[in-house]
Amino acid sequence: MKKSVSFLKVAGIGIYVHWTFSLLIIYIIYINARAGLDPVQISWAVFFVLALFLCVILHELGHALTAKRFGIKTEDITMYPIGGVARLERIPEKPVQELLVTIAGPLVNVLIVAILIPFIYGFDLLVPIGAESSIISPENFILNLAILNLWLALFNLIPAFPMDGGRILRALLAMRISRLKATTVAANIGKLLSLGFIVAGFFYNPFLIFIGVFIILGAQSELESVRNKELASGLTASDAMMSKWTELESYKPLSEAVSMLLQSESKSFLISENGTYVGTLNRDGIIKALRDKGEHISIGEVCNRDLSYADAKTPLEELFTRFRDNRIPLVLVVDAGTTIGVVDTENIAELMLVKQARLEQKNA
Ligand SMILES: [Zn+2]
Repeated sequence: MKKSVSFLKVAGIGIYVHWTFSLLIIYIIYINARAGLDPVQISWAVFFVLALFLCVILHELGHALTAKRFGIKTEDITMYPIGGVARLERIPEKPVQELLVTIAGPLVNVLIVAILIPFIYGFDLLVPIGAESSIISPENFILNLAILNLWLALFNLIPAFPMDGGRILRALLAMRISRLKATTVAANIGKLLSLGFIVAGFFYNPFLIFIGVFIILGAQSELESVRNKELASGLTASDAMMSKWTELESYKPLSEAVSMLLQSESKSFLISENGTYVGTLNRDGIIKALRDKGEHISIGEVCNRDLSYADAKTPLEELFTRFRDNRIPLVLVVDAGTTIGVVDTENIAELMLVKQARLEQKNA
């Protein structure tokens, strides 16, 4: 992952720290120094933030390792100043699995609290929490860590989809109603709660505004992906493909591609060399090449040489993931060894719109 430093690998999952995390540490040092704290006190504050982030990593590992039990890989875990993100290869669709994978995160924080409590009582660390407690010291370190872990668990359990609590809600709903309906309800509750976050952010902590916006965007994008998945079910590559496409020869100059883009309806082109396809080029690729290399460069030098083929019967869902993961402009649809059509993301989007309209017509 870009601009992140890998520092650990647990059960095959790389754990990364985003570079902006260093800004948080600098900020902690700065505000504490400004408040007149001495270097030892500042070190304790930094140490505390690091301990807290270790707890967040453990929370994410709770999700990742539970997902692993269900055969779901985690691409990586990245720590940002606002928290950690475990990028699961996919969200389990079985409600029970989603429930367990999700609840494992906050449970880790509860477990950490349970482990810290004997220390607090055993070493008599239950110091009174007052104004002084904002200065981290060896005496209040463990107590503060326990309190923040409890907060982490409770905060994550707020049912604002796609936060952990919202996912738990979706999973519980999906046990009774369809996944799409469950997601719609959870996403709407999430959006409503995030408005609360945003309003609260103006009065208390601007950080909440950020969380609120993040929830709204996350809820919307997850809802769309579930909806698309539902719409795509039963459809194949051949349903979405265009059986007519435009070819460009690789030795021709980019200016040819530019005029083709302007003249024709096509936004994506197949590039051929001596009668065989060698690459693809779409509108974004043409514009970028035009800006970087000028119109005299040959098409063959700037086209995307990763050709992606799909059988006509390939489920549309699989194409979704392929476009998302590989950032390819076009997929060639083949049947019995010959290319019978091409698909790009625009075709798929159109097909989804058509299917949605048909469904709405039926329900009307
Ligand atoms: Zn979580």
